[in-house]
Amino acid sequence: MIKEIQAKTLLNRVKGPDDWFGLYYSMNLFRGCQHQCIYCDSRSECYQIENFNTDVLVKANAIDLLHDELGRKRVVGTIGTGSMNDPYMPLEKQICLTRRALKVIAQFGFPVHAITKSDLVLRDLDLFADLQAQTYAAVTFTVTTADDELSKKIEPGAPVTSRRLKAMRSLAEKGILTGITLMPILPFIADHEDNLRRIITLVAAHGGRYVLPALGMTLRDRQRAYYFKKLDRLFPGLRGRYVEAFGGQYFAPAQNASRLEAVLGGLCEECDLPTRMPVFLPRKRACQPKDQPHLF
Ligand code: SF4
Repeated sequence: MIKEIQAKTLLNRVKGPDDWFGLYYSMNLFRGCQHQCIYCDSRSECYQIENFNTDVLVKANAIDLLHDELGRKRVVGTIGTGSMNDPYMPLEKQICLTRRALKVIAQFGFPVHAITKSDLVLRDLDLFADLQAQTYAAVTFTVTTADDELSKKIEPGAPVTSRRLKAMRSLAEKGILTGITLMPILPFIADHEDNLRRIITLVAAHGGRYVLPALGMTLRDRQRAYYFKKLDRLFPGLRGRYVEAFGGQYFAPAQNASRLEAVLGGLCEECDLPTRMPVFLPRKRACQPKDQPHLF
């Protein structure tokens, strides 16, 4: 079910420095996510998103909040979106909330980093080009498997990997900074050399400029319970291997993680793909902006 809510604030200051994603602020326009990846960490109790598996809450006052908050910010730093929900989940096609937020961000001249699994991001290519020309824009696709059939199973609401890679190519052709987060890598499912080799080769061939890896996954309270339930249905027998290998631990590393890390390092080097992305360095605003009118 899709419901509207009123949020109190929108932008959060990221505890930093965030060398990985280069974020200074984070922005969540939604609570919940239609992509429903079986491993999603946003199900964890600490995020207090009730009914994650059925509901998406849309922050109906997000654009007003964003406008007010950006007017008061003293530091121009990258605004990240896409860590707790996907800014291009299917409902965005109709409500255009992410698009309207990008327009406000462009109006105030702030940099942006969007993380997504959807090729709907291409709809906003004009805005990313504008943002990049002004300050900085990056679009990072999450890719966990090179196999479309497997991505359908583990990321059932999201476009398959090949569609994400095609979108990456389109962004790269327009000169937008783009790459991937290679995370999570699901133990016993996607943690094999062939998967990594195929992904890295494909990213290079589609104009990606970086790979941000984490070889393993988190397993926490509600996230773990949901994931295990899905394992029983999609990969019968695998739950027992998880319990045996990881017990109750929070991070479940890929099997042979250090060997895979070395393989990945070699592949990235071969393909000239760094494991860090170019980031925007935050800077003080020269002067407080005059009150900017709402244009959108
Ligand atoms: S796209 Fe991201 S936020 Fe959405 S369900 Fe998948 S992992 Fe969770």
